[in-house]
Amino acid sequence: MDDELIAKAVAVIRQARKVIALTGAGASTESGIPDFRSKGGLWSRYDPLEYGTISAFRADPRKVWGMLAELTEIVEAEPNPGHYGLAAPEKTGHLKGIITQNIDGLHQKAGSRTVVEYHGSLATFSCLTCGNRMSLAQVRRLVLPPRCSSCGSILKPDIVFFDEQIPPRALAYSDELLSGADCLIVAGTSGQVMPAALIPSRLAGQGGAIIEINREPVLGHLAGLVLAGSFAEIMNALAAESSKSPGT
Ligand code: ZN
Repeated sequence: MDDELIAKAVAVIRQARKVIALTGAGASTESGIPDFRSKGGLWSRYDPLEYGTISAFRADPRKVWGMLAELTEIVEAEPNPGHYGLAAPEKTGHLKGIITQNIDGLHQKAGSRTVVEYHGSLATFSCLTCGNRMSLAQVRRLVLPPRCSSCGSILKPDIVFFDEQIPPRALAYSDELLSGADCLIVAGTSGQVMPAALIPSRLAGQGGAIIEINREPVLGHLAGLVLAGSFAEIMNALAAESSKSPGT
């Protein structure tokens, strides 16, 4: 990793008043979770229209659980050094929060506390019939497809399907984070999934600095600083550099 670029990024972060982060699938690949959109990924094996929509789930939840059973295996994954590297500056007050498109809960596992899950998460499951909610721990004790403890209907994980809206609470929360933010760390995101893709331009529009960490950078002119490479390595290097006192 280029030490000079790391030092520059740390300087930008230190100068900012409010730093936030936006993460996507690329942050979790080093935890062994393949990008669902990649070649050989989940959506190349399951047709999103047949398996990834709430209407498909309502029509045939048992069939959709064929895909979900595979998806829910990611709850076994562990955070990588990048997740820990991003959790560290929140503890010292330098990072105000993370907006993530990931549903794996790895930021929280690594110790991050303010995490907006744009696409929901696998931490809870809901019954579309009676509104009952069950935790992952409860659901893990059940045979798949898991059934509601109150009414027996097949449960749906609280992830956002392709034809569902971003949860209003997540939108409000991310608005709050974005408001007044003057530095955004974008990591492991293709920048193509709406509406999360709008976040970097919004930040740039309010005069914020953008630091992009991607194996294949996508933000172009929006990114003031591009650190191309591994999320785990770069975040780890950033955290190590930040922990040094300024001027050393
Ligand atoms: Zn129910």
